Amino acid sequence: MKSKGQKTSPYWNPILETLPLEEMRKLQVKKFRRIVKWAYERSKFHRKLYQEAGLKPGDIRSYDDIAKVPKVEKAMMRGIQRKDPFPYGDALCVPLEEVTEFRQTSGTTGVPVYQPDTWQDWEWWAEAWSYILYAQGYRKTDRVFLPFGYNIFVAFWAGHYAAEKLGCEVVPGGVLDTEARILKIQELRATAMMATPTYVLGMADTAKKKLGIDPAKDLTIRKITCAGEPGASIPSTKQRMEEAWGAKVYDHVGATEIGAWGYECTAQSGGLHVNEALFLTQLEDVETGEIIEEPGRRGKVVITALDRMAQPCIRFDSKDVTEWSKDPCPCGRTFRVIKGGIAGRSDDITKIKGVLLAPTAIEEVVRSIPGLASEFEVVVTKKGDLDDITLKIEILPEAEGKRDPLLAQLKDQLRLKTNLGYNIEVHPFNSLPRYEVKAKRFKDLRKHE
Ligand SMILES: [Zn+2]
Repeated sequence: MKSKGQKTSPYWNPILETLPLEEMRKLQVKKFRRIVKWAYERSKFHRKLYQEAGLKPGDIRSYDDIAKVPKVEKAMMRGIQRKDPFPYGDALCVPLEEVTEFRQTSGTTGVPVYQPDTWQDWEWWAEAWSYILYAQGYRKTDRVFLPFGYNIFVAFWAGHYAAEKLGCEVVPGGVLDTEARILKIQELRATAMMATPTYVLGMADTAKKKLGIDPAKDLTIRKITCAGEPGASIPSTKQRMEEAWGAKVYDHVGATEIGAWGYECTAQSGGLHVNEALFLTQLEDVETGEIIEEPGRRGKVVITALDRMAQPCIRFDSKDVTEWSKDPCPCGRTFRVIKGGIAGRSDDITKIKGVLLAPTAIEEVVRSIPGLASEFEVVVTKKGDLDDITLKIEILPEAEGKRDPLLAQLKDQLRLKTNLGYNIEVHPFNSLPRYEVKAKRFKDLRKHE
């Protein structure tokens, strides 16, 4: 361990992270008015959107007025790009020469959206990530390993810069393959890392099988920050990762178009704080559009990045579905908590046989049964007029003898947690696809039939 000076507060920003909600509301309204005015005056796209809704920036006077501002969806951004100022088009709010960062969305749901940032925006990204890492116990004494492909997607790029901002030592494990990354972690005695849940589990597998290394005993990683998939907020997946690495595993949520807007803290209270200082996060009833303030009722996240300037994110429909927690977090932060992280995407939470299903519920069940491997796949098809769900799983070699009781347990738990029946297909161990980035384990083929 290196010895460097330590900041003593448990909070990255002791004032903002403990601000009473009423004070925070005032600050949010002030910043919201500022970003709407900024976009109205500079972005053709926002001005047209607001004019069509009969809205002027001055019309927003209170917190309740915010709901009058039209929402923006990813699909709307696609239509205004790939023209001058090239390639960003109509939502760019700064002169093109002010842009220093290019990123784009992964394009898994269609044509990628380009995301420009200025240097000031990029520092803002690092600031947002500093809240996350500091709350998860990252300090100057940490040596942080980043086992991800540094490329055109934002992924952990800002996590890298935030770790530097905190004074950690950062090791970029870019183009190394999985085995080389594990060996480098061992050689350097890295203490923390950032990766997707799928990759965290995959690395542990590779370490054991290919290198004879047990990450929990032979490596020194004690903190892992996850992103990209909901796994770190799914208790059974979190437990598998924590046991495999002998480390604390923390979740965070973010998106290219929004920023890094929520994080779990070391209290691990079963939810993620939303960063109220840098974002205005609202939950909206999926059917009525009503703003949900009360705990326990699911809605989709509509979010504003209050300080992002080059291509503003104002009332963005993230499609993420979650609910407010009723309990404050024991860590003392006043930033509200979304219970259980993100339950799924409003596009994925789908009606099957008339029942609402969140794919995360299936993951929770599969990974809570010790004899099953971590990989699985769900395929929904239509047979005649009836929906049909197939769940593909693998049984661990050491649990083969218990196949029948395992399958019975799986069926019972699925019925209990999701109210649905499944065709279970057992596939040979290690035969289902392993993913390095965002896993695609849920396939709804009904739309294509
Ligand atoms: Zn907390």
